[in-house]
Amino acid sequence: DSLFRRRKIAVLGSRSVGKSSLVTQFIENKFVPQYYPTIENTFTKAIKHNGQEYECDIIDTAGQDEYSPLSSRHAIGIHGYVLVYSVASRNSFHMVRIIHDKIVNQSGMASIPCVVVGQKNDLVEDSSDNRQVPAAEGKKLADALGSAWVETSARQNTNIAKVFDLALGEIEKTVPTGSTE
Ligand code: GDP
Repeated sequence: DSLFRRRKIAVLGSRSVGKSSLVTQFIENKFVPQYYPTIENTFTKAIKHNGQEYECDIIDTAGQDEYSPLSSRHAIGIHGYVLVYSVASRNSFHMVRIIHDKIVNQSGMASIPCVVVGQKNDLVEDSSDNRQVPAAEGKKLADALGSAWVETSARQNTNIAKVFDLALGEIEKTVPTGSTE
């Protein structure tokens, strides 16, 4: 048995929902308010989950829309997905299901390990008028997809580590114990 397990996690969602901010907060413990559109970046981080050491490759993607075909880089060799929307954007929430269905169709698996993430929930604290996606709706979608769900704020570092802990939990539900693949 190897000392650690290697897992690849891809972060997908509409543009500007805060994917890069979420990943940067997790990897570098900082929040950059400016918006720099991402092409694609992969980060590696050691994470302990359930007493087990993991070496995780986290792929921060450019962002998807209805018309972007799913890249094979995001369909092959990925163990789990973080599907991000903004609680302040109904359209980005709509995209979660579209992206999810594309992954399922392309992978050929009945279900995929994933975490649905409602990002920017600090905006709701600023004003409840900012909320376009009720928490209950986020949870309901995740239940329908058989995934985990959490609301986060990269700005305030709320529930950021939890995203990746949940992702590993979802991955381990499907990967046989002891597998190093
Ligand atoms: P990406 O395109 O999905 O990677 O989005 P970015 O991470 O680049 O973020 C897009 C914009 O939203 C930037 O201006 C960020 O500063 C802002 N942003 C990201 N995360 C949060 C958050 O948790 N709260 C708030 N209020 N703004 C955020």
